[in-house]
Amino acid sequence: MPEAPTGPALFDLAGRTALVTGSSQGIGRALAQGLAEAGATVVVHGRDAAKAQRAADEITASTGVAAHAITFDVTDAAAVDAGLTELEARLGTPDILVNNAGIQRRSPIAEFADQDWHDLVATNLTSAFLLSRRVAKGMIARGSGRIVSIGSVQSQLARPSIAPYSATKGAIVMLTKGLCADLAPHGITANAIAPGYFATELTQALVDDEQFSGWVRGRTPAGRWGDVRDLVGALVFLASDASAFVNGQTLYVDGGMTAVV
Ligand code: NDP
Repeated sequence: MPEAPTGPALFDLAGRTALVTGSSQGIGRALAQGLAEAGATVVVHGRDAAKAQRAADEITASTGVAAHAITFDVTDAAAVDAGLTELEARLGTPDILVNNAGIQRRSPIAEFADQDWHDLVATNLTSAFLLSRRVAKGMIARGSGRIVSIGSVQSQLARPSIAPYSATKGAIVMLTKGLCADLAPHGITANAIAPGYFATELTQALVDDEQFSGWVRGRTPAGRWGDVRDLVGALVFLASDASAFVNGQTLYVDGGMTAVV
């Protein structure tokens, strides 16, 4: 067995490649930046090619580590397969997959539209299955890999008007455990990060709603909204050698929200 790294080398991602879905903005953008700062070659992803390329160029300029961009719809199985085939031809199977792309739809349950339900399940849950299944083949062949899926405190705490979103995020917790069951024997870990409330485009309406924004501050023991950079440490840990024996877990990064009533 090779000697295990110690100290800061535990968290060194130099020589690893990482695909972060939905990293052209928001949480994914910060996660891609954080992985690049830890030394990884990152692949920025989204549906808008120009936006993804812009983010990749910014990461390259700020870290000196070349970042790449790729575009496909995470809800489309054929597009996921084609995107990963293209990526593998350029860089090989990613060492690290971050299932981050996601959407929100809000409506009281009695009026919840069929299409919104289907969009939520496809984007927040089916995508994680499609991407994980696709990279698993190459990771198994290599005998190593890291899969990290982005859940939510809503996997544990319900709120009015977002029952379908909460259902997709609850399912991420169990998908993660199932991936662990199948992939741990191949040297692969699958974990999830469940963020609390973070100001991004997805939550802009909530940030702008002073009453709701105050509720978030009051309900979060840390007394504030999350900053997207608060998520980087957890991801670098779960993507690195430091977490080799951590598998099937969901790590809540929420300023204490789910720990305290
Ligand atoms: P944003 O809306 O800011 O970003 C979403 C990203 O996902 C964009 O890069 C978008 O790319 C991409 N995306 C969306 N749909 C698709 C699709 N069908 N195919 C490919 N890419 C897609 O969201 P956040 O950064 O806030 O959220 C990121 C993740 O974090 C989500 O899973 C969300 O549920 C989760 N989360 C967020 C919280 C928050 O407070 N913000 C709290 C808890 C969890 P493009 O624009 O090019 O389509």
